[in-house]
Amino acid sequence: MNKNSFGVLYIVATPIGNLQDMSPRAIETLKSVDWIAAEDTRHSRSLLQHFSISTRLLSLHEHNERERIHKLIEVLRSGQSIALISDAGTPLISDPGFIFVREVQKNGIRVVPIPGACAVITALSAAGLPTDEFLFAGFLPVKLKAKQDRLMELSSVACTIIFYEAPHRILETIKEMEKIFGAERRAVIARELTKLYETIHQGSLQELVEWLQQDKNQQRGEFVILVEGFSSARTQEKKEIPTEKVLKILLQYLPLKQAVEIAAEILEERKNKIYEIALQLKK
Ligand code: SAM
Repeated sequence: MNKNSFGVLYIVATPIGNLQDMSPRAIETLKSVDWIAAEDTRHSRSLLQHFSISTRLLSLHEHNERERIHKLIEVLRSGQSIALISDAGTPLISDPGFIFVREVQKNGIRVVPIPGACAVITALSAAGLPTDEFLFAGFLPVKLKAKQDRLMELSSVACTIIFYEAPHRILETIKEMEKIFGAERRAVIARELTKLYETIHQGSLQELVEWLQQDKNQQRGEFVILVEGFSSARTQEKKEIPTEKVLKILLQYLPLKQAVEIAAEILEERKNKIYEIALQLKK
């Protein structure tokens, strides 16, 4: 239960490149709180200046999160409110804040999200890969062996898998994915989202390696990598089973109408289309 006299912790998303993505609610919240806890106060100062926000800043980053928490909880308990922001996007998403939020909740203090940009969701919304289910895997380990082990673990995941990656590792990572997930697996590189050089490029992992190697400019900036899940790769293979082959087998054992119905179901195709092919085969 939130005590009425306690302050509120707001989790405020900021743009991932395009300042116009800052929401009016985010600006209003940042203006109205007593403190803004920022990952890098120098970096955030220019964003805040742009929106004429003069709220006091304090730092909360991965190296001081644990020790800072108690002081910040005291601030909240005294009735003052805090907004947490990160360098870009939604705090806590591959950014610090999780330990803080958990402790704040344990103390019965209200946590209010102010949603906005987030690179993983922005990329997914425009990638053209299945979105009904996805796994956000964050950053892969830096060391090669650990990276390969993690990719092996993920290789049979059925849904879309999403990663963040740094520019100096993008080529090596896509090459490792090609080796472990297979050259044919479809993937998307989403680069510099919402910025001047925004690029969303789809291809097989093999094609993506070639594309990155051919144009070094494509290795610059910020990246989200999205990889098609194992099962959707299999679904495509299944669709590639030749209609004729399925029909020929079924027609050996069944009357035409029944063979067409079953083939249409297996191949997820229109009955009319299958019927025409079946007639040709019969001839
Ligand atoms: N909290 C952020 C969010 O909500 O997306 C992510 C922070 S994480 C430290 C930074 C990583 O997010 C970058 O290295 C990159 O992989 C990804 N990223 C952030 N902004 C991006 C952009 N504009 N385009 C593509 N990827 C971006």
